[in-house]
Amino acid sequence: MMDSTYPLLPVPNALATVLALADRRTTRPVTLDNALGTVLAADVVAMDPLPPFPASIKDGYAVIAADGPGDYPLIGRITAGLLADFSVRPGSVAYITTGAPLPPGADAVVMVEETETLANDDSASDTLPRVRIHTQVKPGQDIRPVGYDIAQGEIVLRAGERLGPAEIGLAAAVGLTTLPVYAKPRVAILSTGDELIEAGAPLPPGRIRDSNRPMLRAATTFAGGDPLDLGIAGDDPAQLEAAFWTGLAQADILISSGGVSVGELDLIKRLLEQYGVVHFGRLRMKPGKPCTFATVEIDGVRKLIFGLPGNPVSGLVTFYLLVLPATRQMAGWRAVELPRVQAQPAQPVTLDPARPEYQRAAIRWDHTLNHGSGGWLAISTGNQASSRLLSMRSANALLELPSGNQTLEQGAIVSALMIE
Ligand code: AMP
Ligand code: MG
Repeated sequence: MMDSTYPLLPVPNALATVLALADRRTTRPVTLDNALGTVLAADVVAMDPLPPFPASIKDGYAVIAADGPGDYPLIGRITAGLLADFSVRPGSVAYITTGAPLPPGADAVVMVEETETLANDDSASDTLPRVRIHTQVKPGQDIRPVGYDIAQGEIVLRAGERLGPAEIGLAAAVGLTTLPVYAKPRVAILSTGDELIEAGAPLPPGRIRDSNRPMLRAATTFAGGDPLDLGIAGDDPAQLEAAFWTGLAQADILISSGGVSVGELDLIKRLLEQYGVVHFGRLRMKPGKPCTFATVEIDGVRKLIFGLPGNPVSGLVTFYLLVLPATRQMAGWRAVELPRVQAQPAQPVTLDPARPEYQRAAIRWDHTLNHGSGGWLAISTGNQASSRLLSMRSANALLELPSGNQTLEQGAIVSALMIE
């Protein structure tokens, strides 16, 4: 068998190579409804304070603290959203609800639990109802002063922050309906192989269904990219080249799957060598050894091209390790790598003698591990063949196993990359 001329690059070096070439892209405004998961491109400053008025924290009575406990006439009511058209004078109280503006004159709130309304023994209709205050409060008690939550001029969101529900709420709180964010990178996805047929079509003899394209479109969305479907290209240089140029004209990243291993029909590397710079053509890893990465310049813009292996597991594992961080970096994320935990395999794990291996596992917290102090238990997904996509079903982690000749005992500590 002909051997590839490309050296086996360790995965950490491959990741560094990819990230050094993945630029941050353009910015665009998005409405708050479309902001989830995007990355802010500019600081957001509060133009006004929150609350904009001294607000009650409790349902109760607005009082003058110095009046102290006693029976007082109830001179009015202020509910949230209303402004009092009266003042609280010494010797009187006003009913107030949570979030309502403190009426002029009052300097504290007594919560309703510390009061009682008194039966009105006077039948005259113009007599005010009376309230008994049981407790002494300090000035400012149960009041949020102006700007307590957000000060005027405060930076509430910083450029580079990823927008989740709380960040979107903060933007609304300071009055914004749109936010400047980094554009999601466009990721064109191509399947290659004469054997492939679209799911839904009848399956002729000798053919298999294309699982990689729907999988990688979903993976792209998960990674924060915007997928563009290039369909299936046969194992034919002209077809592949046409599909590549279509993708590269529109996308920031192009992912192909298949056609990168060593063999007669493995055409992707040749195409990339012809038109771009191939930065690596093999990885020291299992599964996913033939993964290839190249860049091309089109009108002065650098495009990234990942030639992922055809086996579905190899394609998805290399996507998580390399394409996902690149996509995140181009989408403006600061921390682009998958989080790691230390996990303990639930069964013995035999290492690969030649290459570090990324085994798929379902990880969960087990409070009985380590004499009751707890730990992450990694349960294997079974047969780890790179063609067997069922080995990634329900997997939430990739165990980063070193190469070696031994078998790790059950309970050994291994590093695990979280993929969900
Ligand atoms: P290749 O890298 O083209 O040699 O493909 C390696 C293996 O992956 C072969 O068994 C292919 O049939 C399979 N394969 C390639 N592309 C796909 C795909 N899109 N969906 C499912 N299997 C694929
Ligand atoms: Mg193929």
